[in-house]
Amino acid sequence: VSKGVEKSGVQKTITVHRLVAGVRRQPLRIVVTGGAGFVGSHLVDRLLERGDHVIVIDNFFTGRKENVMHHFKNPRFELIRHDVVEPILLEVDQIYHLACPASPVHYKFNPVKTIKTNVMGTLNMLGLAKRIGARFLLTSTSEVYGDPLQHPQTETYWGNVNPIGVRSCYDEGKRTAETLTMDYHRGANVEVRIARIFNTYGPRMCIDDGRVVSNFVAQALRKEPLTVYGDGKQTRSFQYVSDLVEGLIRLMESNHVGPFNLGNPGEFTMLELAEVVKETIDSNAKIEFKENTADDPHKRKPDITKAKDLLKWEPKISLREGLPLMVEDFHKRIF
Ligand code: NAD
Ligand code: UDP
Ligand code: UDP
Repeated sequence: VSKGVEKSGVQKTITVHRLVAGVRRQPLRIVVTGGAGFVGSHLVDRLLERGDHVIVIDNFFTGRKENVMHHFKNPRFELIRHDVVEPILLEVDQIYHLACPASPVHYKFNPVKTIKTNVMGTLNMLGLAKRIGARFLLTSTSEVYGDPLQHPQTETYWGNVNPIGVRSCYDEGKRTAETLTMDYHRGANVEVRIARIFNTYGPRMCIDDGRVVSNFVAQALRKEPLTVYGDGKQTRSFQYVSDLVEGLIRLMESNHVGPFNLGNPGEFTMLELAEVVKETIDSNAKIEFKENTADDPHKRKPDITKAKDLLKWEPKISLREGLPLMVEDFHKRIF
């Protein structure tokens, strides 16, 4: 915090160092690409709360101004409408690179654009990091494991991804983004961090985002049947957004490149998830089976031993604790 003070009749500026996690330091300048989206906006809240300066870059494809509007009067906050596929010049200390649609419905909408975002967008942010000496964090995904043949998935597993399927624009896009990140690290000494995020839910998800938790919650609130794709026996592990944000910040501040799995190991079939949603919102809700989409991974569960050991991180909020927090937000937005 800078304060103008009168000393010996001369106006001087002194800097009062803030206490962050027990360590006194200057505020950082941080870029969050995709910061108007679901995860990005929660990350922005945390970074501003601890006193740093945040620049959000977003093209509003799936993000919304409403997610960050509460910061508009904060002089430490800036919002730039910009597509990461285009180069940009900025001066910052850290880059959290999240820009990319995450819901299958959104990333399949324009698959070539999804690839450009992952490849050219990540290249531009790495070029920026290289030029200014910033630390760069990539939000990769559990989708790099594809339809995994190893269960649970550890970071050493190379995955089972279809390179020519309808999900490939995202899966292969993120795999290339990881490759670029490591090549800038090895070739240009850029300080990088890679997080592989598993399914995450919470307030501010797009209501009609197409992902399973947002679909079930919106359907139960609207008294519509819960749409279970396929036989509903496929599994996912659901992480509450505040746990993820804590993991991302710990990773950025650590001395480890990764990749790190960031996810909640609690594994549910889609039918079990539907039951939890029914218990939370409406026990009379009906289930409607629908045809599944192509290449849907059969199971997914993170092994988080590495993040526990090296980042001292593990999720704290179970699905049954986190779901009501999301339901409250959806209730306000739907009714
Ligand atoms: P989201 O769709 O809510 O947010 C993505 C944000 O990126 C949006 O604000 C969108 O407008 C912006 N964006 C997209 N393309 C852009 C472009 N070309 N230029 C600038 N901005 C662009 O998704 P989310 O759930 O918040 O995901 C954030 C990141 O985390 C993504 O990179 C995603 O791949 C990753 N991730 C999320 C999950 C999850 O379950 N939420 C799981 C694995 C990985
Ligand atoms: N880039 C950017 N901002 C910068 C520096 C680079 O957007 O401050 C972009 C640049 O336009 C290029 C990409 O990042 O498309 C990779 O940059 P790099 O310098 O690594 O490669 P080169 O420009 O030599 O291809
Ligand atoms: N799914 C479902 N009903 C829905 C939406 C999704 O049963 O309304 C299933 C989908 O087939 C997949 C799982 O839920 O098996 C998770 O899908 P989501 O799109 O949330 O994320 P993914 O992990 O596939 O990226």
